[in-house]
Amino acid sequence: KPVVAIVGRPNVGKSTLFNRIVGNRISIVEDEPSITRDRLYGEGEWLDNHFLVVDTGGLDLDSEAELKDEVRQQAELAIEEAEVVLFVVDGRTGIKPMDREVANLLRRSNKPIILTVNKVDSKELEEKVKYDFYELGLGEPVAISAKHALNTGDLLDEVISHFSTEETGEYDEDTIRISVIGRPNVGKSSLVNSILGKERVIVNDVPGTTRDAIDTYFEVGDNQFVIIDTAGMRKRSKVEAGIEKYSVIRSLKAVDRSDVALMVLDATQGITQQDKKIAGYAHDQGKAMVIAVNKWDLIKKETNIDQRYADEIRYEASFINYAPITFVSALTGQRVLEILDIVEYAAEQYSRRIKTNVLNNVIKEAISKHQPPSQKGRRLKVYYATQPRVKPPLIILFVNDPTLLRQSYKRYLKNSIRKSFGFDGTPLKIIARNRK
Ligand code: GDP
Repeated sequence: KPVVAIVGRPNVGKSTLFNRIVGNRISIVEDEPSITRDRLYGEGEWLDNHFLVVDTGGLDLDSEAELKDEVRQQAELAIEEAEVVLFVVDGRTGIKPMDREVANLLRRSNKPIILTVNKVDSKELEEKVKYDFYELGLGEPVAISAKHALNTGDLLDEVISHFSTEETGEYDEDTIRISVIGRPNVGKSSLVNSILGKERVIVNDVPGTTRDAIDTYFEVGDNQFVIIDTAGMRKRSKVEAGIEKYSVIRSLKAVDRSDVALMVLDATQGITQQDKKIAGYAHDQGKAMVIAVNKWDLIKKETNIDQRYADEIRYEASFINYAPITFVSALTGQRVLEILDIVEYAAEQYSRRIKTNVLNNVIKEAISKHQPPSQKGRRLKVYYATQPRVKPPLIILFVNDPTLLRQSYKRYLKNSIRKSFGFDGTPLKIIARNRK
């Protein structure tokens, strides 16, 4: 999916615009509203065009950085990696010095930049700002009010007009596409190099793709894998390592193109807030996930140490409780190849389809053990279930009234399904529909 980045100084209304575009759209797997995480990106849709929207303003991944620096750096990353950049300015305050700075940067890029003047809620102001902001040299401004949804449709028309239509089916169905995600310095590059350096791993160029410059295709036995966007990960020198600024957009795009996200954690640091945010991308996009706790060589071995680590991860990030956890060392090569077995397993579960009669037996049994909830004298009735979709598996329950399916009961059914079928490594989505 194309990425649309929203940049601009604080208080111009970036997050209001973000919310306007993303709306209340529930992402692919997030059917549990209990999950609260910062929403910095979401899926937008306009006239059948699907895209990812990133609010760069909220990305204070490097919170010590000076604000000015931060705004500039995020603008730079946005130019590099987004398909379309929405540069948001405030129509009420007029042009501020920081606006000029960002505009200078954006003008030099050859990405489509849409100068978006926000907080314009009257015709007079609209005329005025169009004239005033023209001088930023970014073409005709689009005047909107994100808060009152004025002209936002025109804005989206313009956004999608910049999308190109190519890019489909770049790898063969059987190739497992892996994105490697995690904070800087957790050892992503080291791990990738360690995997690719193993004797059994045959690294090949994929003929006929334009992606081979950034993706790495390889085979192990009969299995084919591709690590998405390894640019900057392979053959990195000690000096280079760790100086690169973490790019959210880049990770998002890699996750979007993958089947399985390999989430790398640093064993010496445990799971951090930022790790959870990053894991959230893959979860929200409905991707399979495997967690590799790296630098395991640095951990003093005590009884049950791995169990305690796993427990902490489960406790801290319960929304990804389906992801298998493995403990590895890129440095010594310990269990590095096993990651691929686990990834393969997760990918299999991700595209697994359960036969309707088998699925219905499991659901029937779960219901007989634990009565469905009722509300105002009406009890939920589940007539039957189907699994119309994979990647990730989606289960639809046909019921008498979908509003009667409460979260807790949904969770119970989900657990029952997992108990019977596993689905390890993949998110699982359940929705209820009225029986037709
Ligand atoms: P990236 O930013 O996530 O790609 O991380 P790098 O692969 O550049 O690694 C960051 C630092 O951690 C480097 O100094 C590596 O040598 C070190 N490192 C990576 N993996 C391991 C490991 O398994 N054990 C130890 N002890 N150090 C590691």
